[in-house]
Amino acid sequence: MKLKSGLWRLSPSSLYAYSECKSCFWVDNHYRRAPMLPLLLNTAMDSILKNRYDKYRKQKTFPPEAKELLKEGIKPFMDLEKLELWREKMSSLQVEDEEVGYVLRGKIDDILLEADGRFVPADYKSSGNAPAEDKQKYYRDQLAAYGFMFKKHGYKVSNRAYLLHYFVKDKSNPSIDVKFDSHVDLVKINPTRLERKLKEMVKLLNEKYPGHNPDCEKCAFYVGRHRKSKK
Ligand SMILES: [Zn+2]
Repeated sequence: MKLKSGLWRLSPSSLYAYSECKSCFWVDNHYRRAPMLPLLLNTAMDSILKNRYDKYRKQKTFPPEAKELLKEGIKPFMDLEKLELWREKMSSLQVEDEEVGYVLRGKIDDILLEADGRFVPADYKSSGNAPAEDKQKYYRDQLAAYGFMFKKHGYKVSNRAYLLHYFVKDKSNPSIDVKFDSHVDLVKINPTRLERKLKEMVKLLNEKYPGHNPDCEKCAFYVGRHRKSKK
């Protein structure tokens, strides 16, 4: 969305669209979307996971299902007060680049640490299904964006990030005492490359509609919207 200041407002979780379809990314950012109902079950799961990781954080460790992080040399981030700020306040990690023309803002789920103290961004993902093999490609830019934001705020950032997946164990079980399985997923990130990509994104948004992408299913819907709004 373009702000009154003329800057494009971008969020880490919206960046994937650029890699998926540039035409859809353009439309998503030029037109205000109808408000969506909040995904309350997802939000509840995020709260549960935050509380869970915080409970173990107090003992300087991770929940049993994420213990493999310790073996990979990863430690929990212990400053809960700072973490709460980055979790709650959208502007706390904001990066504004007036020259390029964007404001990047968003909240993070968790921070992990390398042995040398570098930041490792982490995001909880809850879902009905086990993550697909290639799922991390959807989240690479999101996690790199967190890394980039921390870098801009003066922190040293790792080239590693993690997705902490939680998914329903057995959907055929009729009990509402739902059991979850989990999976820790390493994602390599490059915050410097992401900064270059942000420039490309803004350049695209400042140009005219790139046209319908014949390889994209979603584009078929958007083309109609774009034509209508030009009348
Ligand atoms: Zn598209």
